[in-house]
Amino acid sequence: MNAECLFCRIVAGEIPADVVHSDEEVIVFRDVNPQAPTHVLAIPRRHVASAHELGPADGGLLGALFGALRATADAEGLSDGYRIVTNVGPAAGQSVEHLHLHLLGGRRLTWPPG
Ligand code: 5GP
Ligand code: ZN
Repeated sequence: MNAECLFCRIVAGEIPADVVHSDEEVIVFRDVNPQAPTHVLAIPRRHVASAHELGPADGGLLGALFGALRATADAEGLSDGYRIVTNVGPAAGQSVEHLHLHLLGGRRLTWPPG
C-alpha cells in the first residue's frame, strides 16, 4: 500500500466507496463523478501506477480486472454494450496514479473521445 495514494486508501477502507465487486485481487466501485448512468472503476488491490507498468507477468491481474468488469456489466444490465477505458499519464487526463479501468454504460457513447 502507498499511504499517499487515494485508491490504496479506498482498498484499505480508510476512504469510503460504493463497492460493487470485491475479490482477492480486485475491487470495483462507483465513480464519485459519474459520466454515464453506469460508471465504475476496477482497480488492483496492490499499487500499480498505470497500465504503462504492466507486462507479461500481469496476465492474471488483467484477467481478474476484466472478469470483474464483465460481472459488473452483467449485474448492471449493460447487454447493449459498454466501454472500458484507462487513461495513462497527464496528457490523457490520468488524475489518480493507481491503475484504474473505467467502465461506462447505460447511454449511447460517442467516438472518438475528446
Ligand atoms: P482518471 O481521470 O485518472 O482517468 O480517473 C479518475 C477517476 O476517479 C475520475 O473519474 C474521478 O471522478 C474518480 N475519483 C476521484 N476521486 C475519487 C474518490 O474519492 N472516490 C471515487 N469513488 N472516485 C473518485
Ligand atoms: Zn495506490
